[in-house]
Amino acid sequence: MIKMLLLSLLKALGLFILAQKITARRPRILCYHGIAVDDEYKFSPGVFMQSATFDRRMALVKKWGYSPVSLDELYQQHQAGQYQKNTLVITIDDGWAAIEQGMLPSLKKYGFCATLYLSSYYVINQRPVFKLSVYYLFWKYKGPFTLADNSCLKPHTTLQQLSINDVLSLAAELGSAYEQPILQELADCFGEDIALWQQNGKLMFLSAEQVTALAAQGLNIELHTHRHKFSELNLTDAAKELADNQHYILQLTGRAARHFCFPRGEYQPEQLPLLTAQQLKTATTTENELVARQSPLLTLPRLVDNDKVSELEFEAELSGMMTLLRLAAAPFKRDKK
Ligand SMILES: [Zn+2]
Repeated sequence: MIKMLLLSLLKALGLFILAQKITARRPRILCYHGIAVDDEYKFSPGVFMQSATFDRRMALVKKWGYSPVSLDELYQQHQAGQYQKNTLVITIDDGWAAIEQGMLPSLKKYGFCATLYLSSYYVINQRPVFKLSVYYLFWKYKGPFTLADNSCLKPHTTLQQLSINDVLSLAAELGSAYEQPILQELADCFGEDIALWQQNGKLMFLSAEQVTALAAQGLNIELHTHRHKFSELNLTDAAKELADNQHYILQLTGRAARHFCFPRGEYQPEQLPLLTAQQLKTATTTENELVARQSPLLTLPRLVDNDKVSELEFEAELSGMMTLLRLAAAPFKRDKK
């Protein structure tokens, strides 16, 4: 509340405009995720934004005078020794199906280019994302999950009613072949129509055909690992995640990806040479900040935007006002430690 009052005041005083000038040579990399088909923005506003919110954000990007560029352009500016003024990149993580109807029209309307960091597993395996769907169904219907007499889980548990943790641990034990049957039983029990999800893209990823079409329309498709796993893996498995992801992206788009986004923004320092070995030019995290001249290209920060962020907070980040406030507060934070 105090933050919002302070930001309103700073904006009214014209300090957002001043902040934009002061931070002009610090590129902004915006980070987005999915779009809600239905009520997913209430379930997980950090992942599923309302398309109307995204459209208003793009209008603000335009209003503040930015013309988004590609990650290749950002990389070239870095190699040339200096970032150009007002450089901005739009990135979208994961590959949620609804971005096609919920984000692409706004991007087209403003003539903005964007990058999609694609995890390929659920593109190839076209079914709802298992874990998130289980969380969603328990969030919406509050359980309990009573097993039907012919349940595929009956041979594997003595329980009649399962909690969310029971479902997830059983699924982990039984393997991915059980995921879709379990999800179907769970939806049947709660009365949710999963077949509809397959049509409207709820909790689904883009299909292979959609990815190919979007790439042909100019959306840059880049790496996000095949199974959305990286920091938790050993070097061999992490390298395989990158290679599998690269394989599918090449197959879907006809072009090799050269940029990467760490799943959940997390990485181990010893994993960074894997990116160099793959000849990747940049990699991004979810550290919320503007890029600086000295920011390492393989751990670039971004401005994370979602439905939990108000328009005023977004403008405060976009203009660089928040960066200046964080800089001003840094010495006091150090003293506290
Ligand atoms: Zn992700």
